[in-house]
Amino acid sequence: MSRIHSSGNLRTEVALVQLFRENRITGWLRRFNLPGKPDLTFPREKVTIFIDGCFWHSCPKHGHIPKQNRRFWQLKLSANRRRDREINHLLRKRGWCVVRIWEHSLKKNGTAQIRRILNAMPNQASK
Ligand SMILES: [Zn+2]
Repeated sequence: MSRIHSSGNLRTEVALVQLFRENRITGWLRRFNLPGKPDLTFPREKVTIFIDGCFWHSCPKHGHIPKQNRRFWQLKLSANRRRDREINHLLRKRGWCVVRIWEHSLKKNGTAQIRRILNAMPNQASK
């Protein structure tokens, strides 16, 4: 499970790091130790970012249940969705701002996602 999560996200994670560099956004860390293993975290701003793969997190546009082993996938994918909600709740309770980015929206319009992240961090935006 965690293996799938981290390896599946590597490319999109790199794409986001690239956007941070282009926009001179600093202060982020990879693999900061938090529940749910977020992809990138700004510890000072208490903002943490998950890049959600369209398949694994059942994106409304691209999520689908494979025809083979349908029952298995239904359970697996709904467990993932439930886990995402639990992690969001847990982190927010601890005072973190959670930003979830769909894999597809990062590819399609990364700039809009950067704006979302900056909105969560007033100090960075004013630089
Ligand atoms: Zn998608």
